[in-house]
Amino acid sequence: MPGEPQDDCLFCKIVAGQIPATIVRESETTVAFRDINPQAPTHVLVIPKAHYENAAALAAAEPQLAADVLQATQAVAEQEKLESYRTVFNTGSGAGQTVWHAHAHVIGGRGLQWPPG
Ligand code: IMP
Repeated sequence: MPGEPQDDCLFCKIVAGQIPATIVRESETTVAFRDINPQAPTHVLVIPKAHYENAAALAAAEPQLAADVLQATQAVAEQEKLESYRTVFNTGSGAGQTVWHAHAHVIGGRGLQWPPG
């Protein structure tokens, strides 16, 4: 079933509390936690609790849930007192995606270059 937890998914295990994470925000449909390998002073991942392999699959299947994730990124930025920040969805291995559960990176707390590498 689309959205069902996957046994071999790291982020599903974080949602289930089977793997520890530093959770900074949680709603009925989303979880936000600190990235284990931060690329900036603030680096938080926002995920839907439901499993979709990337942001495109999430948006196609559950647009309201995709909106919940986006709204949570804004709430995290506010909570972290970020004036400027970047929200990134890596989609596909060529773009750097390594975990196949949709997630938004919220990155801030330092100057960011454009374009990204
Ligand atoms: P991606 O490369 O866009 O798929 O992002 C995956 C992110 O998950 C990377 O920034 C990793 O550092 C992060 N990550 C991997 N394992 C964990 C974990 O157990 N806790 C928190 N973040 C993780």
